[in-house]
Amino acid sequence: MSATEELQKVAHEVSVCTLCTLHHSRKLAVPGEGPANADIIFIGEGPGFHENEQGRPFVGAAGKFLDELLAKINLKRSDVFIGNVVKCRPPGNRDPLPDELGSCSGYLERQITAINPKVIVTLGRFSLAHFVPNAKIGEIHGQAMRIKGRLVVAMYHPAAGLHQRSLMGTIEQDFRLLPELISKAGPTPEQPEPVSVEKNEPKQLSLF
Ligand code: URA
Repeated sequence: MSATEELQKVAHEVSVCTLCTLHHSRKLAVPGEGPANADIIFIGEGPGFHENEQGRPFVGAAGKFLDELLAKINLKRSDVFIGNVVKCRPPGNRDPLPDELGSCSGYLERQITAINPKVIVTLGRFSLAHFVPNAKIGEIHGQAMRIKGRLVVAMYHPAAGLHQRSLMGTIEQDFRLLPELISKAGPTPEQPEPVSVEKNEPKQLSLF
């Protein structure tokens, strides 16, 4: 199966998923979108109000800011894959619960395996925790880590910049690291192994 076909299969499964209770309250699931050969994947937390209405990731205020950050490094939304750790909106935008994250993580892993990106950018703490449980964004944002052969860079969630304007400069600075990271990323794993929370030990984390 090609990467495009696998992404389409994941998107279909997500759209009819009943693995956790979030399916009761969702309007539309949000599988994520972008080209199957993207060099870079951005992973947010979960759909908000507008994403739940439209079935597309990052289409609200945080998404507008994400588009602006991408434009500053000469990237368009259509150049990158954008997804989330949970694919259905937690009611009232509450934090995703552990069982919701656990139910949904297989979809994200399949998307990463299919795309085999050069760089994975985590946006916010839940996305970071998928790769490095218990890490603190304030301490490791903007640093590239090798996790199971993949280059992972933690960044603040764009919404954090909208709520706390003093973070905007930091977020922009972190985004400006991406073009060089992509060009120096080196080979992706030949037989990509899904990354999962349980399997990651801090000892597997090394700075790039
Ligand atoms: N915030 C997220 O984390 N993901 C979205 O898709 C939208 C807002």
